[in-house]
Amino acid sequence: MFRNFKMVSNVIFGRGCFTQLDDILKKQRHHSKSWVVFVVDDVFQGKILERRLPFHAKDMLLWVNVKDEPKTSYVDELTLKVHHFARTLPSAIVGIGGGSTMDLAKALSLMLTNPGFSHDYQGWDLIKNPSVYHIAVPTLSGTGAEVSRTTVLTGPEKKLGINSDHTVFDQVVLDPELIRDVPPIQRFYTGMDCYIHCIESLQGTYINEFSRSYGEKALTLCREVFLNHGAKQECKNIAADGDSSGETGDLSERDGRVADTDRIFSNEDDKLMMASFFGGMSIAYSQVGACHALSYGLSYILGTHHGIGCCIAFDALEEFYPEGVKEFREMMRIHKIELPRDVTKGMSKENMDKMILVALGLEPLWENCLGKGWKKIMTKKKMKSLFKMM
Ligand code: NAD
Ligand code: ZN
Repeated sequence: MFRNFKMVSNVIFGRGCFTQLDDILKKQRHHSKSWVVFVVDDVFQGKILERRLPFHAKDMLLWVNVKDEPKTSYVDELTLKVHHFARTLPSAIVGIGGGSTMDLAKALSLMLTNPGFSHDYQGWDLIKNPSVYHIAVPTLSGTGAEVSRTTVLTGPEKKLGINSDHTVFDQVVLDPELIRDVPPIQRFYTGMDCYIHCIESLQGTYINEFSRSYGEKALTLCREVFLNHGAKQECKNIAADGDSSGETGDLSERDGRVADTDRIFSNEDDKLMMASFFGGMSIAYSQVGACHALSYGLSYILGTHHGIGCCIAFDALEEFYPEGVKEFREMMRIHKIELPRDVTKGMSKENMDKMILVALGLEPLWENCLGKGWKKIMTKKKMKSLFKMM
């Protein structure tokens, strides 16, 4: 059976395109009582973005906190809040933030039209009713959550997505200006999520021309963003020359003028945003691999966030992805990233066993990485030795 792949119906791309969000929403505001829910990462509370929201009198603003990655209990709580806010359903849900916020917006739009608890729907194609129309506005790039048909949630028993055609966003607003102020370390970890999506997809046994076409382009863009020493040096010189102009003064507050100037001159944010989109498209028609399986184990037991968890796991996978890991280490060196070490040191046997169980349970990921005979290669003992390296 070939998969009949559901894609995002509308995409708008370009610096400043966020200003068109109001026009996009206008088409969903069918009558005077129509209202919209803005699901926004609370990192933007009191920031310029808050003032730029195209908020109308009847709308609801739902600040979300993503310190912990999305849980099913949090989704249920948000769903209840929206139900209490009005008797009618909203005309649209707009998720503004990184992968966590986009996933919360997706889950909310599904749970508003499907009865019960969100953990009931963790799995594949369990959603019965179409969701509320939903829009993604990424402010952090790499996860590909803006294009995928899943919303990854940690439930009482498992970390697993609600995978369905109804999960896919109806509209994506890709404005590279919105990712400008992401702290560099976060940008690196989430960016590496995309890089690893590409490596796992391109080197996997499930690879096909559809996935390769997207994956190769995304990989090229990741390399341009994260390995681009030449352009960076040139920008440093330009920044140093123009030091007295103050032109970049407003940007330099955050983490130094050089880093920001790099991004402006090389359009790196535009590239990273498209890399995330294409990386997501690549895995949607193939699969991720060993690194993601191991990172899910880390996340389940240690609560490690997705991007950093993928980086920790990938660094231990030289045996399986030798070239990718070599290049990844070069990227870490350029960006002066120090990975946390010994994260599994001192872990109880019980937790180690559970972590192995979670990671081994992701069968398609292992089959994609190692082929049909994967069980002979990725034994519990082998996996334990990999976790111990992290
Ligand atoms: P995130 O959304 O968890 O955000 C990480 C941090 O960056 C948070 O502190 C957030 O407040 C902050 N942040 C976001 N945008 C910012 C901005 N513009 N400026 C400053 N700070 C900003 O990070 P992520 O890596 O994008 O997402 C990880 C989540 O995505 C995980 O929950 C993971 O399971 C999920 N994910 C989903 C899919 C999917 O297909 N649905 C794929 C991969 C990962
Ligand atoms: Zn990922």
